[in-house]
Amino acid sequence: MKILGHNIKPGISIQLNMAVARLHTRTRIEVPVIIERAKEPGPCLLLMAGIHGNEVNGIEIVRKIISKGYHIPQKGTIICIPVLNIFGFLNQQREFPDGRDLNRMFPGSANGSLASRFAHIFMTEILPNIDYCIDFHTGGEQRFNFSQIRIAGDDDETYQLAKVFGAKFIVKAKQREKTFRDIASKNGKKVLLFEGGKSLYLDKNVTNAGIQGAINIIHHLGLNDFSQLPRFYPANEELIDVESSIWIRAKYSGMFRSNIRIGSFVKRGEVLGTITDPFGDFEKEVKAPNSGYIFCRDHSPIVNQGTALLHLTTNVKTVRV
Ligand SMILES: [Zn+2]
Repeated sequence: MKILGHNIKPGISIQLNMAVARLHTRTRIEVPVIIERAKEPGPCLLLMAGIHGNEVNGIEIVRKIISKGYHIPQKGTIICIPVLNIFGFLNQQREFPDGRDLNRMFPGSANGSLASRFAHIFMTEILPNIDYCIDFHTGGEQRFNFSQIRIAGDDDETYQLAKVFGAKFIVKAKQREKTFRDIASKNGKKVLLFEGGKSLYLDKNVTNAGIQGAINIIHHLGLNDFSQLPRFYPANEELIDVESSIWIRAKYSGMFRSNIRIGSFVKRGEVLGTITDPFGDFEKEVKAPNSGYIFCRDHSPIVNQGTALLHLTTNVKTVRV
């Protein structure tokens, strides 16, 4: 295994720095890549977060896995990249400093924009070495996602892994072109995309669900035996396969509040929240157009007509595990 000019032999534990570019201050920017390779052969799993620099909950999940030592395998290799877009993380923003969304730049090119060059380095140095990846994300801005795994296509192994991960929802989302997941799957890698929480926010349940999912996958792939480990997060006895969903949008502009517990099942016609003006004489209820699960909620208190408020499933399949 060769990464960033280093020969990674069995039994090696090393932190490398992916030197990407310099800031305009001439400060060198390096992305830490933490590699743990066991003496015994086995698959290679990449745990990665921060492709969007402000999605700190994913970063926290990978950080905690490292601090607890769960990334040190008995077989095979685990590579951790807690903050892929370190530029965005410094600026607390989603994008690269060139304004690009790194997750729309894959596979990138050696002579392209900064984000494109970075994607290219990742493609040539890291991707060829891995078999599996968990890519940790959160909702954008104020959109709070209940812990979920997103998968695309109908690859059996990926679906099995999504079940093993054990987040309550498995969301079948269409593959977007030029995303890391799109290009990695086209290269034969099995990618689980975890979504939980919202940008610039840490939620303990999300963190614990993410760590537990990673532990379940590490155990399932035979990288480590975690059968004696106490659980971080309660096991879901049934998982919800989300086959289709709708956004409930605001019919009025105003202030939105909701007491609905994210992840819960609501009945058709149930009041999910209210939209009011700031002056006390206008109040409208927001009702569920159909029965289903609420798996994402926008936390913005001020909404415009058309703002997506709540993400509701329209068609689900319950899977017992
Ligand atoms: Zn993201």
